[in-house]
Amino acid sequence: MSLHRSDHPLVAHKLAILRDKTTEPKKFRDLVRELTWLLGYEAMSDLETRPEPIETPLEPMTAARLEPKVGLIPILRAGLGMVDAMLELLPTAEVWHIGLYRDERTLKPVEYYNKLPDAATVQVCLILDPMLATGGSSAATVDILKTWGAARIKQVSLIAAPEGVATLTNAHPDVDIHVGALDSHLNDRGYIVPGLGDAGDRQFGTFAGPASEPGHGPDDETAEVVRRLQRDLDR
Ligand code: URA
Repeated sequence: MSLHRSDHPLVAHKLAILRDKTTEPKKFRDLVRELTWLLGYEAMSDLETRPEPIETPLEPMTAARLEPKVGLIPILRAGLGMVDAMLELLPTAEVWHIGLYRDERTLKPVEYYNKLPDAATVQVCLILDPMLATGGSSAATVDILKTWGAARIKQVSLIAAPEGVATLTNAHPDVDIHVGALDSHLNDRGYIVPGLGDAGDRQFGTFAGPASEPGHGPDDETAEVVRRLQRDLDR
């Protein structure tokens, strides 16, 4: 299992404020950005470097430059809030959009947008999604990226559920998963508990009312999907 959970006190502190239900969208977005820096920094700690001769004002030296080209693949829509932070760390990264939405009832990913060129243009892909919940969208995104020819793939999430980690790890054991916290479980609507609610709504201020709130329901089909994931986890 390639799960890396940050134990940095700053990550824990910022997650505490992020999870708090009174945190407003502006502050929430700022925290998503700051947490992405911290987790992105950790996730890239094993990227290769190549020696490069440079001259400082004092003398020549051999410095190290990042070797692989990196691609960022945000899971829409909540992953968009992590892109700018990663671009601040890695201004030359390419950003590729793959549109998958999570069917509200079946929790299965449905592809609606994919404009990847024929062959991979990067060696390392970082999938960005604040919440690794069922793992379905991530596993489907990895399928697409592997077919594309990406050599190395990592998932960066602020919070993960054990069900999502298991789904992604079982489907793609070679994918590194970097998270800020591993929470208790999914509820019967597929929300991470204790989690932080809907990361997209909380970033973008789109609260559609009680029917869309975490914990509302359950819907039978959705609840059955979550039960199946939890049964798989127990095996
Ligand atoms: N997506 C979210 O935004 N929150 C969850 O808890 C699960 C999936």
